[in-house]
Amino acid sequence: MELILMGTACASSGRDRDNTYLLVRDTSGSTLIDIGGNPLGKLKTLGLSTHEVKRVVFTHVHIDHIYGLPSLLWGMWIDGREDPLEIYCDESEKEWLQNWLELMKLTKWPIAFEISVQSFQWEKPALLWKEGETALSVFPSRHGVAAVGIQVECGGTVFVYSTDTMPNPLIRDMDRIDLLVHESTTAERSLAMHSTLRDIAGYYDWSKIGRGILVHLTDDEPYEDLLKEIPEPVSSKISLGRELERIPL
Ligand SMILES: [Zn+2]
Ligand SMILES: [Zn+2]
Repeated sequence: MELILMGTACASSGRDRDNTYLLVRDTSGSTLIDIGGNPLGKLKTLGLSTHEVKRVVFTHVHIDHIYGLPSLLWGMWIDGREDPLEIYCDESEKEWLQNWLELMKLTKWPIAFEISVQSFQWEKPALLWKEGETALSVFPSRHGVAAVGIQVECGGTVFVYSTDTMPNPLIRDMDRIDLLVHESTTAERSLAMHSTLRDIAGYYDWSKIGRGILVHLTDDEPYEDLLKEIPEPVSSKISLGRELERIPL
């Protein structure tokens, strides 16, 4: 399995960073977690095809996490896709998402693949699927709207993505996390419904976390300066996500 950081910026995007979204590559088919800008161009840069994307999971429907969907679907149509695509979202957004697909006149395109919208209830931790050794679950985040974090287990390796959230006790209480990708919208400047690097370093038990990567980053925030102040046993585990960074899991 491989994780790719398709974008690493906060909602207002960045000079050199795109909005945060992730690609989890797996032999059972790859999963896009949210879709920010230019998914087609980024897949090309990575040497990947739209055909390998089997599913999309929307952690929440704030615009910075969803706006790349029309472009992805357009590219799948151009690429002659025939395999079905699954899109997961919160139950309360399912009708809205189906209406959005209608508004895009998707049913007017001579589209040859089925789009199946599936839902979860964000307040209840749930397994979305398990195929082979890989299982993907969602759990509630703390973002003031219906929003979920993501947990992927693959052959004993545990990867967690916080999505947009304040520090989350459900993440803190996990037994072990090999890789935690956590939003860090600011370094230490307080911002409602989000996390700071100061929060992340202090709130979680880093003896249980192998590695942390920060995403949802804001330009010109003093992340690097703050990392120098954080005790080395914690700071040595934390890095800033890089655009199109590929992480084997
Ligand atoms: Zn966001
Ligand atoms: Zn958000």
